[in-house]
Amino acid sequence: MNKKFKRPNLPSKGPNAVWVLLFFLALGVAYLFWYNSINREVEHVSYSKLLEQVDQNKVKSIVVQDHAAQGKYQDGRIFSANVQPSDRLWNSLLDHKVDIEIFPPEKQSWGSYLFLAFFPLIFLLAFFYFRQNQGGGNGGGGRIFSVGKSKAKFFSPNQITVTFKDVAGVQDAKEDLKEIVDFLKNPKKFERLGAKIPRGVLLSGAPGNGKTLLAKAVAGEASCPFFSISGSDFVEVFVGVGASRVRDLFTQARRNAPCIVFIDEIDAVGRQRGIGLGGGNDEREQTLNQLLAEMDGFSTEHGSVIVLAATNRPDVLDKALLRPGRFDRQIEVPYPDVACREEILRVHARAVKLSTSVDLGKIARGTPGFSGADLENLINEAALLASKEEAESIETKHFEAARDKILIGGERKTLTFTETEKRMTAYHEAGHTLLNLLLPATDPFHKVTIVPRGRTLGVSWSLPDRDKTSQTKSELTARVVVCLGGLLAEKLVFNEQTTGVSNDLEKASSIARNMVKSFGMSPLGPIDYVTAAEHPYLGRDMQNGKEFSQKTAERIDTEVEKIINDCYNHGQSLLVENRDRLNLLAETLFEKETLHAAEVYELLNISPRETHNMH
Ligand code: ADP
Ligand code: ZN
Repeated sequence: MNKKFKRPNLPSKGPNAVWVLLFFLALGVAYLFWYNSINREVEHVSYSKLLEQVDQNKVKSIVVQDHAAQGKYQDGRIFSANVQPSDRLWNSLLDHKVDIEIFPPEKQSWGSYLFLAFFPLIFLLAFFYFRQNQGGGNGGGGRIFSVGKSKAKFFSPNQITVTFKDVAGVQDAKEDLKEIVDFLKNPKKFERLGAKIPRGVLLSGAPGNGKTLLAKAVAGEASCPFFSISGSDFVEVFVGVGASRVRDLFTQARRNAPCIVFIDEIDAVGRQRGIGLGGGNDEREQTLNQLLAEMDGFSTEHGSVIVLAATNRPDVLDKALLRPGRFDRQIEVPYPDVACREEILRVHARAVKLSTSVDLGKIARGTPGFSGADLENLINEAALLASKEEAESIETKHFEAARDKILIGGERKTLTFTETEKRMTAYHEAGHTLLNLLLPATDPFHKVTIVPRGRTLGVSWSLPDRDKTSQTKSELTARVVVCLGGLLAEKLVFNEQTTGVSNDLEKASSIARNMVKSFGMSPLGPIDYVTAAEHPYLGRDMQNGKEFSQKTAERIDTEVEKIINDCYNHGQSLLVENRDRLNLLAETLFEKETLHAAEVYELLNISPRETHNMH
């Protein structure tokens, strides 16, 4: 019932693989019989015994090669003997009408010896490759001898039915990806203008938020072929296999250019190199190096291959992957906020029968922290419950039961948070935001959200309105105040504080410390206290200030403390004065989860700050 994209039917792997295994088994059995027949059931007789048997008319036929003979008695038994090919032998055989066959010396044996020697090995190898491809899952079964072949799934343009309209929300990501679509559709235009050709785009975000879906939609929009593979498919026991898979994948991709290569879980290959005991993992490094080499090696002559990669851990990736010409664009695919959740529900509800009384907006509000995949699952579960009850259509109660089942069943690996936690996060972010708006020396406010991303619960963004090469003392002080805004709001409203402030405090302290030690912005005067103590080459062993005394160190601490305290008090009084605005902003944020600058200005009835250029 859900609009999942259908995997295309690749040649089915099961039967093929089984046939090949059966074939080898049959060969094995035949081999055993043959081996037995030549070794066990053959009776060896001496030359004189053979002559005797011939004379007694007991031998029916004989094959002679050099000094070796094999033959059949009248009763069907087989014998072998070493013979002296002589007139005595031939005459005797001819006299008794034995059927004689003579092989030229030393032929035939080579092949059979080789076969004898290597058959078990071939058998083992075949078996092993078979196991390998089975174990790796995904579509490898048909190609038993393809260890080094990529395991990518291939979708031709007419197999892809997803486009951007099937991806709800994630507006920013879609905007960014439109450029890629344009390029794939019309590379000439870009080349003519000398524009830089995009090569790699990294989609980052928690699982289930539509990274794969987006990548596929790019291929769908541009109607170009789509290769999909997971980073973990490259990782194998054999050194060199991963690298050769990468090579194979890109060879195929180039043949199909322009096209999209999608690498899911790129962190499986792309983790930072050379960490871990024993100098790291050779195989993975080779694979990564090959991937880098392939990306560097694209030429635009044969049309373009664009690599989209997905990860939940952009922070662990090898820096080399993120250099220009590789994955130099990062697009975040965040958890959906309340409006997005409603849209996603709407997309997936198309396939099921909803009661008219169901309010998807309300369901969206009740599912904070749900990913796109969670929401799809929610609709699935609700539909299952409804059909179990043989209901006419899916009702609100089915959604509620489904949600409880998902939450309590612990099926969700994402963050769950309670109303109280969500409200505290809203006040925390509102605190940052409000101080940012109230202080004149801050960067223009951009947007605020309490949708969790990565390990943080919410974010309040401001964007510098020009490239800042230097900052004034009042700008730095204002930043410290804004950093403390989250903590201040929590304490003011709930008389409580959360651990969510640790990152804020770290930032505030580091700004304050720099003001004192590097910028001469304290009563300690215009002295640089950093170089000697922290300079990577000069001062490592002079820790704790051989260049400045213990006493100076204490004075630095005092000045840092003083800056923090002043900022704290300033922020506190601002929030107390504007308590009603804080409440309004926080409660609206609680409701809507994401607010853009314009919405906040309107809500609080303040005019946007003038900026140096457009924003
Ligand atoms: P990821 O690759 O980020 O782990 P997927 O793209 O595999 O996530 O998403 C899993 C499923 O969740 C998709 O197939 C889709 O049905 C649903 N989904 C996720 N995000 C969205 C979205 N923004 N709009 C519609 N469906 C979504
Ligand atoms: Zn904060």
